[in-house]
Amino acid sequence: MQVRTRFAPSPTGFLHIGGARTTLYNWLFARRHGGAFILRIEDTDEVRSTEESVSAILDSIRWLGLDWDEGPADLRSDKGRCGPYYQMRRVDLYRAQRDRLLKDGKAYRCYCTKEELDEMRRLAQLEKRPPRYDGRCRSLTEAKRRELEASGRKAAVRFQMPGDGVTVIEDQIRGSVRFENHLQQDLVIWKTTDGPTYNFACVVDDHLMEISHVIRGDEHLSNTPSQIQIYRALGWEPPLFAHLSMILGPDGSKLSKRHGATSVLEYRDQGYLPAAMRNYLALLGWSTPDSQQLFAAEELVGKFALEGCQKSPATFDTVKLQWMNGEYIRKTGLDELTRLAEPFLEKAGLKGLPGPDLKAAVALEHEKFKLLSEIPGLVDFFYKPVEFTPKAMDKVLKAPGAKEVLNGMALALKDLEPFDEKTIEARVRRFCEDEGLKTGQAFHPLRAAVTGRTEGPTLFKMLEIMGRGEVLKRLADAQTRLA
Ligand code: GLU
Repeated sequence: MQVRTRFAPSPTGFLHIGGARTTLYNWLFARRHGGAFILRIEDTDEVRSTEESVSAILDSIRWLGLDWDEGPADLRSDKGRCGPYYQMRRVDLYRAQRDRLLKDGKAYRCYCTKEELDEMRRLAQLEKRPPRYDGRCRSLTEAKRRELEASGRKAAVRFQMPGDGVTVIEDQIRGSVRFENHLQQDLVIWKTTDGPTYNFACVVDDHLMEISHVIRGDEHLSNTPSQIQIYRALGWEPPLFAHLSMILGPDGSKLSKRHGATSVLEYRDQGYLPAAMRNYLALLGWSTPDSQQLFAAEELVGKFALEGCQKSPATFDTVKLQWMNGEYIRKTGLDELTRLAEPFLEKAGLKGLPGPDLKAAVALEHEKFKLLSEIPGLVDFFYKPVEFTPKAMDKVLKAPGAKEVLNGMALALKDLEPFDEKTIEARVRRFCEDEGLKTGQAFHPLRAAVTGRTEGPTLFKMLEIMGRGEVLKRLADAQTRLA
């Protein structure tokens, strides 16, 4: 059997964390088994589906560094032998299967109005029965149907669920899950607006696209018994199912907007690296027997297995994600990191300004960054006029003796050769000895004067990168401010 997996988003919003994890697991599983990963756009909800959402979803998946073998090439065209991959372009295929079910008596036309269905639900609630469709249109005579149609009623099509027995799902993660058939509805498979419903289109597509494994969120577990019955009624073998556990926020409730960013593109904009995001998402419901945390590029593909997926909910932990991102940033080479940081530096208005080479500035704090978006704030002082924090000005520069230190430093550094980290450090330390100062009494004013801050990168390397001319200029400016 060739492994074929799919991700089938409804384009009614952005790609959220749960969808990204589902995409990743399907992709990893397909890649691990030399199979194909298919992307299918489930746009049958005409009202809520938008092209912007399709674009956002495709951009998100591409940003994550995942590719699909079959699916949309862009908003208009597809690639792959089972297309089209936009459901609204496949309606004839669904209609043909609907007609087969109608002909075989496995589906029927239902003329009930919304009011009648509401009333049915209300009565069921009153009598403490599950709110199901009562099957009143199951055996309408031809004459009755004509009469209803003549009165202007539009028909939906319902699938006739078996009234007894059980449907057992052999879930690849959860094991056997049993559903009593008499508790299942006669599902609407065709809407009065003349289009398929999700549950029906999904079955037809998964079959025609030869999907071998349906790996999806567990909110779809309850749809699976009806889907399995539809496969059987159409004479098709269902694929294997694997339902992924829910993702919770740190407070134990379902992950949502109030826990912070939920859209993948927001994580991109906050400065996470795609590789770190993949690593983190992979562990959001899956683990190796030895609980490995960090994976080299190809390692995830080599190790991912449904057996390692957990049944219990996973908790989304931003602190861990940030830690992981920091680990990936540290492993990223400087050239690459500077390239990745560029959009953030540009947004902060730091590109193209005179000052040291960006790479050298970024290198100074390479060990510290957890997010690409932190980089501008940590290197901007090189490029912008000095702005003194209240602490730098009041506590450090206005402290007794600070002004004299700056005067002395300016003299000491003026002709220092070479102007490099080691030589600067030796000179500043000698200055402290000569003047009988503790090192801090010179280090702190020096940093505050040239950066405006009391914290920052390692002092002497920073001065080297800033360059003698700029350091002396800033010392002079600070002296003027203190005069
Ligand atoms: N369109 C469905 C969703 O976005 C897909 C469900 C499935 O994977 O079968 O939730």
